[in-house]
Formats: sequence, structure tokens, C-alpha cells
Amino acid sequence: MRPRPHFPERCNRGKVLGTIAIYPGTFDPITLGHADIVCRASPLFDKLVVAVAGSSSKKTVFSPDERVALASEILAEFDNVEVRRFDGLMVDFARSQSASVVLRGLRAVTDFEYEFQLAGMNRKLMPECDTVFLPTSERYTYISSSLVREIATLGGDISEFVHPRIKQVLDERLSSRKK
Ligand code: ADP
Repeated sequence: MRPRPHFPERCNRGKVLGTIAIYPGTFDPITLGHADIVCRASPLFDKLVVAVAGSSSKKTVFSPDERVALASEILAEFDNVEVRRFDGLMVDFARSQSASVVLRGLRAVTDFEYEFQLAGMNRKLMPECDTVFLPTSERYTYISSSLVREIATLGGDISEFVHPRIKQVLDERLSSRKK
């Protein structure tokens, strides 16, 4: 490959073989929006690691290990996708997985500002890794885990937004809380 002296070091390495991407998030619970991003991203990378944040500032309905188990179940059919829990800094986990890409989904302009800031900070902390955004498919734009939880808590039907298995466990969890 011709040297590119005016570009960052990583642009001189040529194609990164065996590209590993990590898709970090809270996944409380995994929705059809998340699953759609995984489905569309899995052919783009050699390996995709869905990284479930154990230490989230968000108050979660499911424990980290439950979120990992549920995401693993829903995504089992994707051969190059692994679901792992991480605690601490995402960039440390990305490094431990030898990931060169951080994948994030973008739903609307409102996601953009936060995601852009996060991508900038992650690049500062881990210059060898780049963020790739995939825009959501239109039918999933309005889905978020927090809305799904809220609708389920209020007795609404979430079957259009999550896999039937997630609906089942979320309904069970919320009804046991009411008792
Ligand atoms: P976080 O707490 O890191 O935002 P989430 O589980 O809420 O974790 O989201 C993880 C990633 O999935 C984020 O990049 C988010 O924008 C993306 N995402 C969430 N819901 C959807 C959706 N409906 N369509 C596409 N991407 C989504």
C-alpha cells in the first residue's frame, strides 16, 4: 500500500483483517430495534460483540446477567455475534476484545448530539477504534427500552416492539413486582 504520511497512523495499516466490532448498550431489555441493528451489522464485520453494560447509571429492571442471557437467546441464530457483559470503561472492554469498531444505532436527530459527543470521547480514549453509526430502520425509530418498560408497566401491549420471549419475561417481572 502507498504510504499516506498526512493521515493518522491507523490509515497506513491497510485493510483491517478480521474486523471486530462491539455494540455496547444497556439492553434493558433488548428490543426489535436493537436486534435489527445486529441483524444488519453482522454481515459487515467478521465478529460482532454485543456488550451489555453491567455498571450502568440507569436503574434497570433486569440484572446484567439476565440482560446478557436474554440478548444471547434472541440473537442465538447469528453465528458471528457474541453477547458479553462488561463492567467499567467501554474502551477497556473494546481493547480486551481487540475491537476496532464501536457500533451504535441512531434513531433520530435527538440521539445525534449525545452519540456524537460519546464517539468523540471514545476516540480520545481509544484512538485506534472508530465509531460506526447505523441508522435505525423506519419501523423501529420510535422504539426504546425505556418506553417498552413504561408501556409494559402500565399494562400496554409491547408485542410489536420486542421478541415474544422478552414480552413474556418482562410481563412476569412486572407482575411479580406488583404483588
Ligand atoms: P445506552 O444506555 O448505551 O443508550 P441502549 O440499550 O438504550 O443503551 O442502546 C444501545 C444502542 O442501541 C444505542 O446506540 C442506541 O441508540 C441503539 N438503539 C436503541 N434503540 C434502538 C432502535 N429502536 N433502533 C436502532 N438503534 C437503537
